[in-house]
Amino acid sequence: MNNSNSIQSNYFLIELQNLEKLSADLKVDYCIYCKSYNIIKHGKYKHLHRYKCKNCKRTFIPTTGTTIHYLNKRVKFLEYFSVVSKLGKLTIKELREKLGICTQTAFDWRHKLFTTYSHEFRQVDEMIYLKHIEKNFSQKGRKIQAYNMNLKRKAGKTNFVSYGNTSYIYSKTVKIGNYDERDLDRVLERSFNKNAQIIYSMNENFTKFIENNGIKKAICMNEKSIYGNEVKKVFYDDKTKELNKTITFKFRGVATKYLQLYLNFFSSFLSEKTNYELSKLICNNLVWFKFVQMEKIYEKLLRKVSKINEQFVHIKRYWKNEDRFSEFRFESLIGY
Ligand SMILES: [Zn+2]
Repeated sequence: MNNSNSIQSNYFLIELQNLEKLSADLKVDYCIYCKSYNIIKHGKYKHLHRYKCKNCKRTFIPTTGTTIHYLNKRVKFLEYFSVVSKLGKLTIKELREKLGICTQTAFDWRHKLFTTYSHEFRQVDEMIYLKHIEKNFSQKGRKIQAYNMNLKRKAGKTNFVSYGNTSYIYSKTVKIGNYDERDLDRVLERSFNKNAQIIYSMNENFTKFIENNGIKKAICMNEKSIYGNEVKKVFYDDKTKELNKTITFKFRGVATKYLQLYLNFFSSFLSEKTNYELSKLICNNLVWFKFVQMEKIYEKLLRKVSKINEQFVHIKRYWKNEDRFSEFRFESLIGY
């Protein structure tokens, strides 16, 4: 290890201690499994209090389910977190070389970190921009046993909408295959204030959606309105293009299974909202659960949301205690 590397890892060693302090200070009011408030302190795990739920009898610590749950090599992970939150667009090869980790770890950590950014949808209240983007259906990287040729032929494009204001973009998967204005209702229902000014790119579904929802202040970007030329230059439009390019060119396509994860992360990244902040790693105790349930979430996107009834072969990796979390809202991962 050369000198700069060792300074680097000393820095993250101290950061790990800071993270442990933050973890010890986390406030625990209810059981993370069944949400009961009937919990008691039940000994210690390393430097953290352990809790026991008197309702479901399970024990847990304050960081159970968060990004760092069951995470080994924590010092390295903090370095990874720092690199990815600052540089964002790095391929697996680049991550492997920069950090000296193996491919599987680089993938797992990426998905874990991107999941960390998956709960940050907010309602947009001011002027909002709305745009439709489509991507080819992709089973990239999928194990050959679980690869479905029919699915590839039948699925159609994966459609998502990108929306936002002058400082933030969000992107949500609508469905795989053709969608209509009712799908937009589902996806955009709580995304923005109906009295806001909407500027949208030409799309039949948007027009119907706007009509049906009685949205008065709407301007189509393609019309030669006063806004037209202005809008094309603004933050939002540039960022949306960059998001699209990042997925298509930098990553040479993303598996549909993981598309929403990438959309979540890169929407935040391009909006400059992915600063390195330790508290992000322990503030959401559904991250680990979403991470291990990715395959089920993908199946839900295919079957329930997109109504594709093709045979679905699960890729199964086993994770300790994954079935302990029974209640979970899928919205932020499949885009509604
Ligand atoms: Zn419980």
